[in-house]
Amino acid sequence: MSENYFKKYPSKDGFYKEYGGAFIPPVLEEEMKKINDAYYAISKSHNFISELRSIRKHYQGRPTPVYFCNRLSEKYGGRIYLKREDLNHTGAHKLNHCMGEALLAKYLGKKKLIAETGAGQHGVALATAAAYFGLECEIHMGEVDIAKEHPNVMRMKVLGATVVPVSHGLRTLKEAVDSAFQSYLKDPISTIYCIGSVVGPHPFPMMVRDFQRVVGIEAREQFLDMTGELPDSVVACVGGGSNAMGLFSGFLDDDECKLYGIEPGGRSMDNGEHAATMTLGKPGVIHGFKCYMLQDEKGEPAPVYSVASGLDYPGVGPEHSMLKDMKKVTYDVIDDKAAIDAFFELSRLEGIIPALESAHAVAYAVKLAQKEPQASILVNLSGRGDKDMDFVVEKYGEDYF
Ligand SMILES: *Cc1c(COP(=O)(O)O)cnc(C)c1O
Repeated sequence: MSENYFKKYPSKDGFYKEYGGAFIPPVLEEEMKKINDAYYAISKSHNFISELRSIRKHYQGRPTPVYFCNRLSEKYGGRIYLKREDLNHTGAHKLNHCMGEALLAKYLGKKKLIAETGAGQHGVALATAAAYFGLECEIHMGEVDIAKEHPNVMRMKVLGATVVPVSHGLRTLKEAVDSAFQSYLKDPISTIYCIGSVVGPHPFPMMVRDFQRVVGIEAREQFLDMTGELPDSVVACVGGGSNAMGLFSGFLDDDECKLYGIEPGGRSMDNGEHAATMTLGKPGVIHGFKCYMLQDEKGEPAPVYSVASGLDYPGVGPEHSMLKDMKKVTYDVIDDKAAIDAFFELSRLEGIIPALESAHAVAYAVKLAQKEPQASILVNLSGRGDKDMDFVVEKYGEDYF
């Protein structure tokens, strides 16, 4: 499946079966085509590949290790392993695609990187990449999120980025996307819009996946090295789906590995209380591409919620949408409560504080381990939990201290 798979999907016009594509205004169509053509040419060039390789090794600290969770496995059964993307520079997998996007921008002669951010994680990773390459960086962020995510706003500013507050509508992620797109449209020649996950119009879902494939390639080899076999199960949380696509892409060819994508179950499975896009959504178009989507009667994106702000998106990557229909990946749900339990459990049994997003995947691995005590389980620990510390202590501290 593997190499053929990557040749087959996406199709030339960016489709993963019926999902994906580019449903965008004509001005952008032309620009996306230019980026796509340049990406095909540049990403195969020796210079690009060796520069990216060198950045990963000397700047990001790759390869990140695979770690066996001794005490967690002892307590719950199974053999639970973590791919430590929390040890990637800036503390999450996001820098993998931000460095790739910024390197492409440099090859394209762009001067400025533009993006939106919700919790600020993508903004921080992109501001880091911009500083590395000496590019300008403009991050659009809703005023509500700016107030909530003070430390990340400060990080972006220290890194030299301009943070543009967005004051219309609900003043959160969706408005920030609209605002960033408008700014991009003003000057698509010298700027580039850097999307933060395997979402958006073609070619972004493909490029971001390709930049994240390093996670799966490394993890497969490391796991084989450590254990002499492949994992029985591979687990990752799914917001837009970039960390999951990165890890899964290493195992799509291995029919003996079961793949699990974990969505946020939030407070409940009632409307507006979760972001279980693939579990409860249906196909629709959001932000220029087709995917499973939580939507209202008019087909507009529905309100979503998760304790993990990196997971609360009403759409999902088109490739995940296809992999669900193919039954190649099983998508399931973990709620806030189970994620918070896993946050403390991993911290106290292994000395690793996970991001709340990643804690969803850890919680699911624990469930699998209890069901199948003989199984080996590889989890993508997509990020570290420092960013969530104040929130967790304030909201849940009393229950756990
Ligand atoms: C942003 C984020 C996610 C969710 O994004 P994906 O594109 O679904 O991977 C998951 N984990 C961490 C740590 C994040 O920062």
